[in-house]
Amino acid sequence: MPFSKLGLSPKALEGVRASGYTDPTPIQLRAIPIVMSGQDLIGSAQTGTGKTAAFALPMISRLAQHGALRGLVLEPTRELAAQVETAFRDYARFTNLRTVVLYGGTGYGRQDQALRQGVDVIVATPGRLLDQMQRGLVRLHQIGILVLDEADRMLDMGFLPDVRRIVERCPRARQTMLFSATIPPEIEQLCKWAMRDPETVEIGQRRSPAETVTHALYPVATDQKQELLEELLRRTDYDQVLIFCRTKHGADRVARKLHHEGHAVAVLHSNRTQHERELALNGFRNGRYEVMVATDIAARGLDVEQISHVINFDVPHHPEDYVHRIGRTGRAQSVGDAFTIMTAEDLQEVAAIERFISQKIPRVKLEGFAYKYTRLVEEHPPPIFGGGRSRGRRSFGYGRRGRR
Ligand code: AMP
Repeated sequence: MPFSKLGLSPKALEGVRASGYTDPTPIQLRAIPIVMSGQDLIGSAQTGTGKTAAFALPMISRLAQHGALRGLVLEPTRELAAQVETAFRDYARFTNLRTVVLYGGTGYGRQDQALRQGVDVIVATPGRLLDQMQRGLVRLHQIGILVLDEADRMLDMGFLPDVRRIVERCPRARQTMLFSATIPPEIEQLCKWAMRDPETVEIGQRRSPAETVTHALYPVATDQKQELLEELLRRTDYDQVLIFCRTKHGADRVARKLHHEGHAVAVLHSNRTQHERELALNGFRNGRYEVMVATDIAARGLDVEQISHVINFDVPHHPEDYVHRIGRTGRAQSVGDAFTIMTAEDLQEVAAIERFISQKIPRVKLEGFAYKYTRLVEEHPPPIFGGGRSRGRRSFGYGRRGRR
């Protein structure tokens, strides 16, 4: 079914066309008619499924034109808020709707100015929104459409009390949408409290990682992790690669060494100032950096189109984080690879991930790499150069480096 049959306004459809989308993704197909009808919606869909457009396009259609503040989208992180607001503005470019993004860690100047001029939609992190409410610049009494995006991550980050305070300030007669990759009991409760007779749209299995991603595990001794990472980068034909570390210090260390090796590297974690984070993200988006090293929270929900590879320098502690991390690649049905470097200490966590995604991840040995320790590799006879290949290219072109 084409976008034009989903009940969207002509202006929203123009926005879709200008974004270059030809067909709706499954969540858009199912969610848009529900949102257009005014019903509440629980969307449980993995990242990269096109969920932003699934709520933004019907919002734009229903709000139609500039008036009062009527739409509110809550996001767990500043990066996500900025990204969703950019997408929103893009889809709304043929309307006169005004949007603003509010997040902390940055000055009030531009945000205040936009709020004073009048906006129709706010995309915000909970803290700064409450702050602006206290300062008297935001009143939620006319909010007709409320979106709680990445609700499970807002829960993880301890934002639920703030979210509740915000919801309480919105009118009862409103439409509420909630998106979450997983629905733990706390989120279920929030749904019962904040929503009225919601329709649930579940795309794919909640736990499954993006199906278009090719996974591989690279067992190695702890003191050879960096060496193996560098070798992987050397042999991989990537466009842009996102590397995950468990800690901020770890991310800094890995980035420093890669920089030393001559890679154009950006770092994204919460110890960086907002300005540094923006520079890193913009630089990565526009291709100035081909490698970005990040921690989980910083990279949550990041949408960078060309990410061809995700490399887990550290195995994530929580299996959900594995799914979220690799959701960065293989976005909206394109193809990507996800490599995970593992050591003997990670065996239990790897087993938990494999249980969580109901899938065995192949162990891969890098041929020609001077392994100090091979028991892990040998115990699970690996395919040499495992996995299928994306976009008709080879994963491991010997001697080829980085970008073509
Ligand atoms: P999201 O899950 O909202 O973060 O979207 C993931 C990516 O899919 C973004 O880069 C969108 O621009 C892209 N996208 C969303 N909807 C479509 C569509 N119908 N066709 C192609 N790409 C899309």
